[in-house]
Amino acid sequence: MADDEVVPTGVFAHAGIEGFEQVAFCHHAPAGLRAIIAIHSTALGPALGGTRFHPYATEAEAVTDVCRLARGMTFKHAVSGLDCGGGKAVILGDPGTLRSEGLLRAYGRFVDGLAGRYLTAEDVGTTQADMDLIRRETPFVTGISESLGGSGDPSPATAWGVLWALRAVADRLWGGEDLADRHVVVSGVGKVGAALVGHLAEAGARVTVADVDRRAVEAAVAAHGVEVVDPEKAHAVDCDIFAPCALGAVLNGRTIGELRCAAVCGSANNQLATAADGQRLAARSVLYAPDFVVNAGGVINIAEERYGYDRDRAYGRVAGIADTLRRVLAVADADGVPPAEAADRVARDRIEAMAGVRRIRPGHPTSTQGD
Ligand code: NAD
Repeated sequence: MADDEVVPTGVFAHAGIEGFEQVAFCHHAPAGLRAIIAIHSTALGPALGGTRFHPYATEAEAVTDVCRLARGMTFKHAVSGLDCGGGKAVILGDPGTLRSEGLLRAYGRFVDGLAGRYLTAEDVGTTQADMDLIRRETPFVTGISESLGGSGDPSPATAWGVLWALRAVADRLWGGEDLADRHVVVSGVGKVGAALVGHLAEAGARVTVADVDRRAVEAAVAAHGVEVVDPEKAHAVDCDIFAPCALGAVLNGRTIGELRCAAVCGSANNQLATAADGQRLAARSVLYAPDFVVNAGGVINIAEERYGYDRDRAYGRVAGIADTLRRVLAVADADGVPPAEAADRVARDRIEAMAGVRRIRPGHPTSTQGD
């Protein structure tokens, strides 16, 4: 260690924040606001990521979670070719009891204070109405209502992206993007899964669905005449592609051994329980389409709000997920690594190519300082 190197202590020594550009703690006592905004990287552009409203047991747990999520956004945006960095925010507390106009507008002013380095969006525990309220304090918010010029609910765009990822998987495995007569099991028919089932039905695929919510299953059956399987057994169905669209960690030491599909490609976040599960899938010759490549449609869509939202242009970019996935799988082949590792490499290469590139702001007195 160099003599003049400063050893981090206290909050700076928190394992989660190492390598972060900025972690901002926001407090507004009258409204009970305690929020943490984590900016992991702005190497590729403003740090984009949602605001999660959650009753964390401790502040340390909140810091760990916001940093883990923000880092994930950096990689998702980088591999997707977006000009956005990675960020995330958490509001500490129970949204059911703490949510108020004062709290959200106070939070919006903190976001505004970051002057565009962080762009917020809806996440677990926050709603589009919350984003509309935040918009009254700052322009640095995405996913606002269509009536305010935003792109609205990102779920349809996410489902559109999953469809195109499925096409790329079909192309890779069977030499064509056509999904007609391919058997796809969609586990979780909520906002994304239900829209995906609609696209698959239209494409002529054979679809089996699973959900713990009986009404969601009934709606899919009524709309598209799909087959149904018990949620506990969805991963084990003999099919072409398993599409997890519900919870994380669905691919683990137990389930991977029971898979009878050729590929896994769905919207659920954090599908691999551990990094070793990527190797396990490869060892079983199951093609894994990395979740953060497949489910990027929502962020690709909201990122388009930065340029004045146009749905056709946005959906065209979302369909580009097919090409992104092809590139990732080519890197996996070339480097002999599982697809999830290949996706990380593609993302890291893009970030490193921009590392050290200076932001020039004409007329700003310090813009060329140190050059
Ligand atoms: P949602 O809450 O609308 O739907 C999830 C569905 O999964 C619900 O119908 C729920 O009943 C069902 N479910 C819960 N546990 C289940 C289980 N054990 N087996 C089968 N089904 C189960 O959520 P969503 O917005 O559709 O998101 C689905 C997944 O995609 C989540 O992992 C989410 O993080 C991820 N994702 C969503 C978006 C988006 O734009 N909404 C973007 C990126 C990633």
